Amino acid sequence: MFDRASVVTPGGVNSPVRAFRAVGGTPRFMVSGTGPYLTDADGREYVDLVCSWGPMILGHSHPEVIAAVQEAAARGTSFGTPGEGEVALAEEIVARIEPVEQVRLVSSGTEATMSAIRLARGFTGRAKVVKFAGCYHGHVDALLAAAGSGLATFGLPDTPGVTGATAGDTVVLPYNDLDAVRAAFAAHPGEIACVITEASPGNMGVVPPADGFNAGLKELCAADGALYISDEVMTGFRTSKAGWYGVDGVRPDLMTFGKVMGGGFPAAAFGGRADVMAHLAPAGPVYQAGTLSGNPVATAAGLAQLRLLDDAAYAKIDAVSAELRTLVGDALTKEGVAHTVSSASNMFSVFFTDQPVRNYEDAKQQEAFRFTAFFHAMLEQGVYLPPSAFESWFVSTAHDERAVERVAAALPAAARAASEATA
Ligand code: PLP
Repeated sequence: MFDRASVVTPGGVNSPVRAFRAVGGTPRFMVSGTGPYLTDADGREYVDLVCSWGPMILGHSHPEVIAAVQEAAARGTSFGTPGEGEVALAEEIVARIEPVEQVRLVSSGTEATMSAIRLARGFTGRAKVVKFAGCYHGHVDALLAAAGSGLATFGLPDTPGVTGATAGDTVVLPYNDLDAVRAAFAAHPGEIACVITEASPGNMGVVPPADGFNAGLKELCAADGALYISDEVMTGFRTSKAGWYGVDGVRPDLMTFGKVMGGGFPAAAFGGRADVMAHLAPAGPVYQAGTLSGNPVATAAGLAQLRLLDDAAYAKIDAVSAELRTLVGDALTKEGVAHTVSSASNMFSVFFTDQPVRNYEDAKQQEAFRFTAFFHAMLEQGVYLPPSAFESWFVSTAHDERAVERVAAALPAAARAASEATA
């Protein structure tokens, strides 16, 4: 299948990290998913610790989500008109996340951040955007400077095709460094439209914000008249019922969402202060649109998923995450492998270093070659990890004792492989 794919698709994949380039080997082509398990084209089953990079928070093929999708699809798959489903999903988002007074639905996280940045520039009449090295906000041209995720994996500081003019208004700063942000505002007074940050970064591995960092960003933005944009595409509806906002309570001007809110379908959103959102077309002058925005099948999936995500669901995900973190840490310790299990609520990843990781530079100091050995040993034993040392691991409500036991059984050999690995 990979050979076939490589003929008709660049690199054989439709999103770079899927190609296994960071870890080597042939990517697995999955044919089905049930609960915490994926089955590949050769009939092998894996415990899935990627969960489609976050969206599958109830596990695969959750019966209630599938039923909602089937019911919606039977009524028609796209109308190009307003519909009740998109209103219900917007109401659910507004009800859960207090700073979101109004929300606009889009189809991908990239579209959400791109639109939020345009809106921030339109609202403030300013050009510059501050982002942090290692934070990934999708493949928005202006934000592909020192981004994490696939770019972290490939070590590309930037990408051809993004012009100097496009990236020229992007100011890239080290993460968790408020002095750097202060200096940027001092250097460009009245010029910065917004500061965009992952609410709690997961695209350089999991690197939570230091105490007071997000609050400091908010304060510095407010003092200068810039907008504070919290990208919750990954953390939204995952790290708590109200995402990372539910954890740190720092009130952004704008927020972006994706992944979990689509229930495995292409649905994403941006929203926030009503006075800012009022600048969006057709209410205001900042243009933004989408043929499939608010798609009835995607919104039905997202709504069904969100309605199942109650306090008990989050308690379960948090508990499974904590159990796995302990198991992974213990296995690596037993083999004497230097590591740090880094977590933010139920998101976590392993850095193969015992030094503190507070930003992208720190993350890059890890012995990533040990992750490669660890990854392949887990894969051979039927555990599917993200194929990069710079990505978050994800769990779901479907990860039960049996799934955890299978991970536990695979860990000793994987920890040994990591300990024996050479650069
Ligand atoms: N923002 C964050 C924090 C993300 O993690 C991602 C994707 O991983 C995006 C934006 C882009 O979302 P999408 O891949 O849906 O375009």
